[in-house]
Amino acid sequence: TPLLSLEGVGKSFPNGTVALRGARLTVMPGSVHGLVGANGAGKSTMIKVIAGAHAPTTGTVRWKGERVVWRDPGAARSAGVATIMQHVPLAPTLTVLENVFLGSRGPWRLPRRRRGEFADLLDRVGYRIDPDAEVADLAIGERQMVAILQALATGAELVVMDEPTASLAEGERQVVFDVVRRLSAQGTAFLYVSHFLDEVLSLTDRVTVLRDGTVVEEGETAGYDEDR
Ligand code: ADP
Ligand code: ADP
Repeated sequence: TPLLSLEGVGKSFPNGTVALRGARLTVMPGSVHGLVGANGAGKSTMIKVIAGAHAPTTGTVRWKGERVVWRDPGAARSAGVATIMQHVPLAPTLTVLENVFLGSRGPWRLPRRRRGEFADLLDRVGYRIDPDAEVADLAIGERQMVAILQALATGAELVVMDEPTASLAEGERQVVFDVVRRLSAQGTAFLYVSHFLDEVLSLTDRVTVLRDGTVVEEGETAGYDEDR
């Protein structure tokens, strides 16, 4: 069963713009799925439908096979969908540790349980970061990592990353890729959104290409270049 699927999803805005037309998407558990398209193709709109920030005008969203209607972003988050935007809205004056557990439930809400849980999360991602560093002092790539840790702390099963490496240096981007691969091997699924097909080919298992609100291609990335 797919973790997430969109079937025939359309989205029109009050001003008459049609951002999605009959779009489909299938993300399997633990997979890394690429969503690619030029500016204006409808990627952000699709992400917002998935994250519960837009109601689709037509079509069906399924989560673990069940039809869902997310009332708001909180409902999608509670179900297990985390969204990481390019400019991560972290609390700059709080520490890494405080940010990671903002909004998470469970026993590690208790401050004395947090350091152990934080160390476990770092082991899972294979990454080192000072829990007491202030977020305002971090590089952009480190903020992305804090956002990924925050998503894991909320128990996310699908992490949607919107143009996550657009403002990263090559080395930082490789760090993000390594972490995404490692977490997907542990069962977390990713929807990795980009306007460059080349960027996603080396990272993703499958890719969906949007053009003018319509899915124009969808398939495995392995051997993509050879098949063209
Ligand atoms: P992408 O993320 O691929 O750049 P978007 O989903 O942001 O594409 O936009 C798809 C189309 O929908 C564009 O034509 C955009 O101008 C339009 N659009 C996006 N949001 C709105 C909105 N709130 N109201 C009207 N039109 C919108
Ligand atoms: P807008 O395009 O102005 O965001 P939408 O109709 O897409 O308007 O969403 C309006 C509000 O309804 C959003 O703020 C969102 O939180 C909420 N919403 C999101 N998904 C749904 C849904 N499936 N059904 C009803 N309301 C929803």
